[in-house]
Amino acid sequence: MHKPTAGWHADTIAIHGGEAPQDPHGALVAPLYQTSTFVFDSTHQGGQRFAGEEAGYIYSRLGNPTVNQLEQRIAELEGMQAGAAAATGMGAVAATMMAFLQQGDHVVASDAIYGCSFALFDHLFRRFGVEVSFVDMSDLEQTKAAFRDNTQLVFLETPANPHLKLVDIAAVSKLAHHHKARLVVDNTFMTPLLQRPGEFGADLVVHSATKYLNGHGDVVAGLVTGRSEDIELIKFTTLKDMGATMSPHDAWLILRGLKTLPVRMQRHCENALAVVAFLQEMQPAGMISRLYFPGVNQDEQSSHESDLLQTQMKAAGAVIAFDMSDGFRAATRLLDQLSMIKLAVSLGDAESLIQHPASMTHSPLTPEARAAAGIGDGLVRLSVGLEHADDIITDLRQAFTSLKKGAENTALNTD
Ligand SMILES: *Cc1c(COP(=O)(O)O)cnc(C)c1O
Repeated sequence: MHKPTAGWHADTIAIHGGEAPQDPHGALVAPLYQTSTFVFDSTHQGGQRFAGEEAGYIYSRLGNPTVNQLEQRIAELEGMQAGAAAATGMGAVAATMMAFLQQGDHVVASDAIYGCSFALFDHLFRRFGVEVSFVDMSDLEQTKAAFRDNTQLVFLETPANPHLKLVDIAAVSKLAHHHKARLVVDNTFMTPLLQRPGEFGADLVVHSATKYLNGHGDVVAGLVTGRSEDIELIKFTTLKDMGATMSPHDAWLILRGLKTLPVRMQRHCENALAVVAFLQEMQPAGMISRLYFPGVNQDEQSSHESDLLQTQMKAAGAVIAFDMSDGFRAATRLLDQLSMIKLAVSLGDAESLIQHPASMTHSPLTPEARAAAGIGDGLVRLSVGLEHADDIITDLRQAFTSLKKGAENTALNTD
């Protein structure tokens, strides 16, 4: 029997949330339903299930007990009515958006979103006659002006990759609802532990579960939560017919990963603050020209940003970006000097991961588009992991030190 979760803290839901498949042996951990199909007792029962007149499973692309438990658990964590699981984060983004769009529709999207979400909207949607306007969503006037009569969906990410710019979810959701459009928020960087977009008016919340939700770097997966009727539509149109559904084994691994999400997020955030303090120390040495992290952004946005950090988020998260003063050469040399911190894209794993957006995640953009998006050749993105903060800082310090020595030697040689 499914326990009521009303009143439970997120820490408890992360462990007990969702209806666990029943095990006749009373196993503590619910069994993994690694099966493609489900056997009917009779042709009558099979017919009833297909007709939707009897509850029960038919085929794993249409539903699976292990996947279902994860869908319920994420919905409970986000405070939404229902959830749907997808094969990847992009599967979740695509299935969510396409469930509500048809030829001739219009979408308003933030100009700072995940690279593949941008590609999906800008290239693929265009081929099917859906137009997308990309706007700076931290500018509400610009956002307001982008709406049209045929705007169906609004899409944003906050903090946004890679500059961690914050967007006011409540303000954008008011604009969206005024135009009878649904607001979709990509909450991957925050997880429901640090930010619940539904509380600020988001209609649908998507995740790359590849990142913090699974947290162990061994799965690619996606999730979406929202109102029951919206989730039904996603499940039984785009997910079912386009087929980007999650494998039961991946769902089982994510259910396991979620149990430690609250303690992991706490450590991720503590470590990130320690690393930010270290990097702020580096700034006077002139090696870092700018640090990007919610709450420490040094521009005219900062007071609004710190308000949002207070109202919309429980903590700043654990992804940090910074610009190396000497551009491409300094950034790539710094990354090549690191030993414990791994040079890899992705984020939210136990391992600290560092990458160079200009040559990696954002390399498909033209240099002009990168410049317009403020992604310089010296930009570095660090996902702070769960190692001891001192060890992360030690690795960074030795890399900065050897970079500095290299620069001094070069200076001596050219003198
Ligand atoms: C990684 C990521 C995605 C895509 O997720 P996949 O699981 O790689 O398909 C979408 N949005 C954000 C913010 C991401 O970081």
